[in-house]
Amino acid sequence: MIGFTLTEEQLALQKTARDFADKYMRPYARELDRMPSPHFDWKIIDRFAAHGMLSFFIPKEYGGLGLDAVSCAIVCEELAAACDGMQGVISGSMLVADCLKVGGTEEQKRKYLTLLSDKKGKVGAVGITEPNAGSDMQSISTRAIRDGDSYVITGTKHYITNAGVADIYLILATIDPARKYAALDFFIVPGDSPGLSLGKVEDKFGQRASQNGDVILDNVRVPADNLLGRPGTGFLVAMQAMDLKRPLMAICGVGIARAAYEMALEYSKKRIQFGRPIFHNQAVAFALADMATQIDAARFMTWRACHLIDQGLEFTREASMAKIVASECAAEVSSKAMHLMGAVGYSRDLPIEKYFRDAKALSVIEGGNEIQRSIVAEQL
Ligand SMILES: Cc1cc2nc3c(=O)[nH]c(=O)nc-3n(C[C@H](O)[C@H](O)[C@H](O)COP(=O)(O)OP(=O)(O)OC[C@H]3O[C@@H](n4cnc5c(N)ncnc54)[C@H](O)[C@@H]3O)c2cc1C
Repeated sequence: MIGFTLTEEQLALQKTARDFADKYMRPYARELDRMPSPHFDWKIIDRFAAHGMLSFFIPKEYGGLGLDAVSCAIVCEELAAACDGMQGVISGSMLVADCLKVGGTEEQKRKYLTLLSDKKGKVGAVGITEPNAGSDMQSISTRAIRDGDSYVITGTKHYITNAGVADIYLILATIDPARKYAALDFFIVPGDSPGLSLGKVEDKFGQRASQNGDVILDNVRVPADNLLGRPGTGFLVAMQAMDLKRPLMAICGVGIARAAYEMALEYSKKRIQFGRPIFHNQAVAFALADMATQIDAARFMTWRACHLIDQGLEFTREASMAKIVASECAAEVSSKAMHLMGAVGYSRDLPIEKYFRDAKALSVIEGGNEIQRSIVAEQL
């Protein structure tokens, strides 16, 4: 049986998330977007935490709301429609939670998932990317060397969401560069560890309400117990966690596209040219029809991937497909919306150009769309 309507519970959740986004995100989105450098606002994060927005994806037994994947997608769409930059902060923590869920020991889950559920506003960061290792994880050179009961980690992580503000980092490092993927492990590194520092903060095109930067690890010592799960599983954990996270990245594309489309639709019905609303030109109406169609397609593909996750079924291909379609939908729809709104769309008075800037990141992060196409192609 396939259902495309939301249950009463899901509708209530959607309303709660939408009300939260209207009250606590939308009013601040413009200000944060305009800061001279990407800016992380702790006041907003504390509100996120107080309303469960930093923990809805964490199982109940570790202090979270324990929402299933479809419900998480419903929440994320609303948050991304308000400001995908702020949603990016949550996204960083979500990936930490997914790595812990996939690969952590029971003790690690209890300690760190509980930490991320703290009502005081704790965030996490996953450090995979390096200056010379983006799509290609086997080039990772951050090194972890065993020293008695500890590991000592040295290297630089690049473009990390929540860099410099995270309470915990999951750092992917190699214990033996010659063994490539097989020697990769995640290490749980507390944010206040001696030797861990923030390097360059990226001056991003969009997503300016979250901070990305270099995380520098200079002989950072962590207990051997901070190796996530079993030795040698880092690559697998990264792949499985990103698979799980991918539909929630996709739904952010749906949220951005929806926000841009709704603004363009409303404008097209009010803007009078040649004596009638521009919507009454077939070229404009068809463009909006295409946008609505693309958004529905992206949303349903994303919900399908989430549904498969919730059913415990194989979902990798569907998650990658959803990420391709939804991220490209976000960039195309926000660009079309900008065009339909003429000079007003090109102005910074309205957030249309922000939607476009925020959208462009989605086809690159957590596995570029070429990598997603490789995943799909492998299964054809
Ligand atoms: C907003 C934002 C947030 C991010 N947050 C994090 C984070 O929290 N943690 C983290 O570790 N990283 C993070 N990243 C980094 C991100 O994961 C990388 O940008 C991504 O993995 C791609 O790596 P790269 O930028 O080095 O591109 P490259 O790997 O250099 O790729 C450049 C281009 O070539 C394409 N390409 C690469 N290899 C192939 C191939 N084999 N076949 C076809 N095409 C290919 C890519 O798809 C891409 O279009 C973030 C990036 C952004 C923009």
